[in-house]
Amino acid sequence: MKILKFGGTSVGSVENLHRVKDILLNDDDQKIVVCSAMSGVTDQLVKLVAFIKLKDAEAITRNLHKLESKHIEVVETLIDNHELRGDLKDGISGLITEMMDLSNQEYSEVLNAKVLTFGETLLTYIFSNFLASTGVTNRLIRAQDFMFVDNVDNPNINKVSKKLHKVLEDNEPAHIYITQGFVCRDHLNQINTLKRGGSDYTATIIGAAMDADEIQIWTDIDGLHNNDPRFVEGTNPIAHLTYNEAAELAYFGAKILHPQTVSPVVGKDIPVLLKNTFDPEAPGTVISNKTYRKGLKAISAKDGITAIKIKSNRMLMTHGYLRRIFEVFDNFRTSIDMITTSEIAISLTIDDTTYIDEIVKEIEGYAEVTVDYNHSIICVVGESVINDKYSHKLFEILNYIPVRMISYGGSNNNISILVETKDKIPTLRFLNEKLFLTHQEAVL
Ligand code: ADP
Ligand code: ASP
Ligand code: MG
Repeated sequence: MKILKFGGTSVGSVENLHRVKDILLNDDDQKIVVCSAMSGVTDQLVKLVAFIKLKDAEAITRNLHKLESKHIEVVETLIDNHELRGDLKDGISGLITEMMDLSNQEYSEVLNAKVLTFGETLLTYIFSNFLASTGVTNRLIRAQDFMFVDNVDNPNINKVSKKLHKVLEDNEPAHIYITQGFVCRDHLNQINTLKRGGSDYTATIIGAAMDADEIQIWTDIDGLHNNDPRFVEGTNPIAHLTYNEAAELAYFGAKILHPQTVSPVVGKDIPVLLKNTFDPEAPGTVISNKTYRKGLKAISAKDGITAIKIKSNRMLMTHGYLRRIFEVFDNFRTSIDMITTSEIAISLTIDDTTYIDEIVKEIEGYAEVTVDYNHSIICVVGESVINDKYSHKLFEILNYIPVRMISYGGSNNNISILVETKDKIPTLRFLNEKLFLTHQEAVL
């Protein structure tokens, strides 16, 4: 069995839905197809949640009308059969009425998740019916009936597996199953989300739960590039990545993958292919446990980083000081990304500032604390990157950009630097020039 995931752009128009259908018909393998919402829809639902919180009835109605017409417009051109077209339009209006009922309820976390995941419900309803209308037999299964992950950060694959096998047994067998990305159930069995961009993660959770042969993530670019193509020209797709490399790049900002995408499949050794819906023949990127080449592979950047400097003369020659500081972060369930120390100070970074005031207050009891927001971690990644003969060129950045922190040697596979976010793009471009463009053999 294969798991195929199609992202927002891939399912974002009538033309693209036809492309997705062609890709599904490329081979005869049994498939579970995970779909995102049409591009832009989840952003619109985020706005809807804000209106629900404000109890702004007029804005809620306007937003839902927009959502309804967007999907009805798709059905108008996608579905040839007059009768089915009418039925689907009624079906969409029915779903929008459900949304309207939800929108009139009191705000809660569960309501938030139910609203946000509605885009996936709408799209899969349309897509499954479209496939069937063109003779492609398929079964629509509801992710909320089997994505019982318990913990979003550490999904219970066994539980998902049992639930999913039960859903498949309870349905007529099919060659193609269609389901929704992004949605899951938490430890209380309540509807939740896998966080923005989470459909990639849905695909690998299902892949692990089914012991799939392969997972394909179809998007709008030909694989994971060696630098962020949104900010840097002349980037190139990477043919092979190890799970470790892909996990580091995803965690440190490569938007093509949800940060946790790789974790469910690492132990299972299921390959993950990144493919381009608009160029299906392009090889894309294969992520597996094979190392084809060591050394520098790619650069990524993660925004929204806060740097904290903790300074105290009491740190001099004492032991147990770091433990005391880490305990504070641990008590507030805040994880630390980068750390550097000197004899009297420690600098570290966090990306979740929910408890920043409490953390600072506690540490200020015994040290001087400075907090700097709006930083980005720039990460240079590759198996054994610290041994790459060109890696040293990275440090030339110090001549041009004020670098706040450097982390080297924490692992052999990652060198990270911290800069102000306003310097992120020049840093990415400079590193691209130094690390890739001037040494073409280091590109792939
Ligand atoms: P989808 O909607 O299919 O999930 P995303 O927008 O989440 O697609 O991810 C694909 C986008 O990720 C690309 O269009 C590209 O702009 C961006 N991106 C950022 N960094 C990288 C990278 N290193 N390699 C490839 N794409 C990247
Ligand atoms: N639709 C969701 C989002 O936009 C999930 C996804 O596309 O992966 O975040
Ligand atoms: Mg995505």
